[in-house]
This record gives sequence, structure tokens and C-alpha cells, in this order.
Amino acid sequence: MTKPEFILWNQAYQRSLSRRLVAITASLLFWAGINAPIFRHFLFADDPVWLMIAWLILFLLVLAAHVPVARKLHQGLQRSFSVKCPQCSQELIGPLALRVIQTESCGHCGGQVFTNAAEED
Ligand SMILES: [Zn+2]
Repeated sequence: MTKPEFILWNQAYQRSLSRRLVAITASLLFWAGINAPIFRHFLFADDPVWLMIAWLILFLLVLAAHVPVARKLHQGLQRSFSVKCPQCSQELIGPLALRVIQTESCGHCGGQVFTNAAEED
């Protein structure tokens, strides 16, 4: 892989990562937003306590479910954007990719990552 190819790949990864972060954040805001009136209702209503506890558990469960979903989305992204060091076969993604672009060497082993375009042809 050449340096320009790596930079394009990293930009595509960052765009996909941003889209997933926006989706998760939007989902969290949506869930909090549709539950806000329910919360307000429970503050002033004389509903039974069990009903409020049941709602609170459901609210927290859906909130907590965002964590494994976000993790799954991130793992899928890492799989589809997997680039490994030609020397040590470690993943070059996230902050490591930025270091590779800056130093042109692997953050794990220090080996050379890029091939010259002329060599590749
Ligand atoms: Zn390496």
C-alpha cells in the first residue's frame, strides 16, 4: 500500500466512524427525548410505584443496550477497514494510523509500512 492510498483509506474509515457515532448519539437522544414526557408524567402523577420502576428498568435497559450495539458497529468497522503492517501483521487503525501517516513506520514494530507506487507496478 502506498502512502496516498493509506491516507484515502484512513479518511474513509474516519467518515464511517463519524457516521456510526452520529447514529448512536442520535439514537440515545431519541430514546431520552421520547422518554422525557413519560418521566415528567411520573413526577406529577399518582401512578403505582411498580409502574415507575418497570419504566425506569426498561429505560435503563435500552440505554445500556447502546453499549454492545456501539461495540459491534465499531468491530464491524475495524474488520472492514482492516490494514495490517506488512512486517508484524498488527492492525494499523485509529490513532496508530495517524502515527503511520506522520512517521511512515509501524507503531508496533517500527517497520516500513508503505511501498512506493513505482515498486507496486
Ligand atoms: Zn509492524
